[in-house]
Amino acid sequence: MLKPNAHYAELKDSYLFYNISQKVKAYAEAHPGARLLRLGIGDVSLPLCGAVIKALHEAVEDQAGRDFHGYMPECGAPFLRKAVAEHYRRHGAMISDDEVFISSGASDELGDILDLFDRESTALVMEPAYPAYVDANVMAGRKIIRLRSGIENGFLPSPCGDAKADLIYICSPNNPTGSVFDRAALRKWVDFANENGSVILFDAAYEAFIEDPGVPHSIFELEGAQTCAIEICSLSKTAGFTGTRLGYTVIPKLLVRGGMCLDDMWVRNRTTKTNGVSYIIQKGGAAVFTGEGQKQIKENIGVYKQNARVLMNALNKLGIRYCGGRNAPYVWLECPGGMKSREFFDFLLEKAQIIGTPGSGFGECGEGFFRFSCFGSPEDTEEAADRLLRLLR
Ligand code: PLP
Repeated sequence: MLKPNAHYAELKDSYLFYNISQKVKAYAEAHPGARLLRLGIGDVSLPLCGAVIKALHEAVEDQAGRDFHGYMPECGAPFLRKAVAEHYRRHGAMISDDEVFISSGASDELGDILDLFDRESTALVMEPAYPAYVDANVMAGRKIIRLRSGIENGFLPSPCGDAKADLIYICSPNNPTGSVFDRAALRKWVDFANENGSVILFDAAYEAFIEDPGVPHSIFELEGAQTCAIEICSLSKTAGFTGTRLGYTVIPKLLVRGGMCLDDMWVRNRTTKTNGVSYIIQKGGAAVFTGEGQKQIKENIGVYKQNARVLMNALNKLGIRYCGGRNAPYVWLECPGGMKSREFFDFLLEKAQIIGTPGSGFGECGEGFFRFSCFGSPEDTEEAADRLLRLLR
């Protein structure tokens, strides 16, 4: 008889997030006139920028006959691999075009990339964490080592004896905490991974939000990363591609384990398991890396960053401790009055009709914390800041 993958039974149901959406739905039905302010979303609210829309339209015309494209190269169109590699090189990361793989987004890659590693390998997850890291490894039956972080280390743990693992997840700028590793802190992880033969899976989904010069946009800005890291990135938050879908993964040729080159293995994987990303979408993605595209996406990111400033101002006035917001689109705050994450969620919903995300949904050490997203509209964010001030002052 066919046996299903029994590891699926070990997955924790996301009761918390389900429960929250049910609560919000019930509240909205019971209070039809209420203006709910949704600061829980991780999705963008601004449309694609003009340069991308123009490129998408042109690509549709190409497909109408002028310059028709059938199957695309599995690892990505050369024009987009080149544009992404040049983007890296502008930040001082010496990446060649064929070390870039075009994907349909970071979520897909975070799951698929695990094909490269033995199921016996262990995975280190720094919590609080984006839930997919844990779940994708549980599905594969891998042992997970949890490295907890807290307000005392700014939610930026350093390597230690307990952190030895084959795979090491690092997300910087971080979802949910908004904290970022500076060069010195990241250096320690790169050295640690090289010393132990680990591979870092570096999630750079929020790199475009970095504004401090001391914070690397890519792990490949650090010497030595080419022998110990894979970087997974996405245009979702950088350029509003959450619904359009496009990402990229960098696997250096120098990354070798057990005598096998992981870049070569990924070429073999992609040429077996995908037929590439749509030509039209890749054309739209390439427009992000043009001068015009970069200018326009920065304008949109500026709107989200202003939202972050509005929220941070309110928290400063209230004397509430938080991190993030500066180099990331999330503000991670300590629940006031010693409230637990869920308690604070209920309190904000009932008293101010503000919806955020309880920190406990991102791992046990997120208990007592709360995440605000800056992807909402400026109007809602300003109104939320006013309501917070009225409620908590
Ligand atoms: N990685 C992190 C840290 C995220 O927060 C998200 C989405 O919210 C993703 C990856 C997934 O991005 P994508 O839309 O490219 O699948």
